[in-house]
Amino acid sequence: MNITGIMVYYYFICQKKLWYFMNEINMEQNSELVSIGKILDETTYSREKKGILIDNTINIDFIKNGAILHEIKKTKAIEEAGIWQIKYYMYYLEKRGVKNIQAKIDYPLIRESKEIILEDDDRNVLDNIEKNILDLKQMDNPPKLINEKICKKCAYYDLCYV
Ligand code: SF4
Repeated sequence: MNITGIMVYYYFICQKKLWYFMNEINMEQNSELVSIGKILDETTYSREKKGILIDNTINIDFIKNGAILHEIKKTKAIEEAGIWQIKYYMYYLEKRGVKNIQAKIDYPLIRESKEIILEDDDRNVLDNIEKNILDLKQMDNPPKLINEKICKKCAYYDLCYV
């Protein structure tokens, strides 16, 4: 199984959500928040070529000046997950021989950008995350409900709270 950037993103948000996603239980198309994200993606940075899919595995929002990876996010509410998603892109490309990768997360709604650095320790963390995601995929049942504030906005809310 290829580990994609969205899997790393979900890993940090909720592992139950990630389990649903990896088992192809998809309710995201019903989510208003996902629709907002798509509109944002289509209407911002319109001069850049969007959605650069590499190895059918990582999907970079856009690459500027041929060197800087960019990931577009709506808010900073789940910033940590977005940071690890783009670090995973850097790590993935680095393992395939791409050098001196730079990256940024853009928050167009608040007109901010954040530079992301891949630190030495991050490589070990990402190695472990890959293993944990593969283990999670093997589980017969989803992990427990996290029951956090974020659940109310989650596309899987109805499924989790039946
Ligand atoms: S509703 Fe909560 S527990 Fe269920 S998948 Fe979403 S975030 Fe995870």
